[in-house]
Amino acid sequence: MIFPNELEQLVGLARGIVENVVAPAAAEVDEHCRWPAASMAAFAEAGLLGLQVPAALGGHGQGLLALAAVSAEIARVCPSSSLCFGMHCVGTAVIAAKATADQEERYLRPIAAGRHITTLALSEAGTGAHFYLPETRLESHGDHYVANGTKQFVTNGSRADSYVVSTLASDGSAAGGDFSCLVVDGDTPGIGWQGEWEGFGMRGNSSRALALDNVQVPAANLLGAEGDQVWYVFEVVAPYFLMAMAGTYLGVAQSALEAAGAHLRSRRYAHSGTALRDIETMQTRYAKMWIAWQKTRALVFEAAARGDAGDPDALPFILASKADAGETAIALAGDAMTICGGTAYRDNSRVAQMLRDARASHVMSPTTDMLHIWAGRALLGVPLL
Ligand SMILES: Cc1cc2nc3c(=O)[nH]c(=O)nc-3n(C[C@H](O)[C@H](O)[C@H](O)COP(=O)(O)OP(=O)(O)OC[C@H]3O[C@@H](n4cnc5c(N)ncnc54)[C@H](O)[C@@H]3O)c2cc1C
Repeated sequence: MIFPNELEQLVGLARGIVENVVAPAAAEVDEHCRWPAASMAAFAEAGLLGLQVPAALGGHGQGLLALAAVSAEIARVCPSSSLCFGMHCVGTAVIAAKATADQEERYLRPIAAGRHITTLALSEAGTGAHFYLPETRLESHGDHYVANGTKQFVTNGSRADSYVVSTLASDGSAAGGDFSCLVVDGDTPGIGWQGEWEGFGMRGNSSRALALDNVQVPAANLLGAEGDQVWYVFEVVAPYFLMAMAGTYLGVAQSALEAAGAHLRSRRYAHSGTALRDIETMQTRYAKMWIAWQKTRALVFEAAARGDAGDPDALPFILASKADAGETAIALAGDAMTICGGTAYRDNSRVAQMLRDARASHVMSPTTDMLHIWAGRALLGVPLL
């Protein structure tokens, strides 16, 4: 897909930062589970943290296509940086969807100016992958709420300036996923961080558990109106999250293809002088990798463009994108591991990291299995939930 000029420039801007800042720190981020502070600071400095902030508030006013394209560019080199950037952008989109004038000034302008990182805290241990069913409780006290509960797997955990948190609606209703979303500032008393993130993959994303112990949140921090939850989940959270993650895994798939290509071109045998790229099995395997990447790329960008255009048929495309990008990333990382041989396996190489990072796609909710169910339901006209 040929991107519009403005988006091409943003992708070029991201590419420059990736080469100069993200790439030099990527190995350390993975090896030491280090949150990618340098990447996020460079995105902030370049104005990229405002990708989803309306232009009137100093941002780029971009939608799903930009999020997918920029995420893919970052994930080619550092998937953890892409995940941290992506969850910030999803949180921003959720705040921006129905922001009050006060929320615009306190959150969206600082985000556009590169002075504020936000992120999404939905998942909980009790309901797991069913992220739209929080158990965190919210009590209304007139000018403020009090929140109690524990979120798990909060990407950018303890690093962000604010957290978009879901809770049961303040009347305590759990029926049909009745919940509210509110922005909780990172320095609010009563917030506690549990454990460190030392995951199998995505090792720099600082996905930590967030305990909310009688946390007082101003009533002005409620997003939308109570009862807007289904609208938020399907109109904002799902499309932005799915396209950020689809872009991320598309980037992992591309890096696997590039690693395989580089090895095929450079590996030569002493006994025969044959290069790996001259062997037909390797040629076929590489061609299939390229085809898979191109097909996923076409689906992801088509889905994002349809979503941005408000196409009423966009939903199955968007649901399929993350599932397909995750499967392609896992398959291509596996192929790259085969092509790059025992050396890549022995060295626990960058290709091994791709395999670990790609595996997060199946368990980040909506998970691959859930997306297949939802896509089938969307295509058949059956309610998603
Ligand atoms: C790297 C990483 C980053 C994350 N970042 C965030 C974040 O920033 N914010 C956030 O809120 N959450 C985040 N999550 C959490 C994530 O979205 C899931 O909520 C979490 O992984 C669920 O884990 P669990 O062990 O409770 O899974 P479980 O709920 O126990 O699920 C186990 C398996 O059962 C399957 N399953 C369950 N129910 C169904 C069903 N009805 N149909 C089909 N299959 C089903 C799931 O697909 C999964 O494969 C992150 C997770 C990871 C791994």
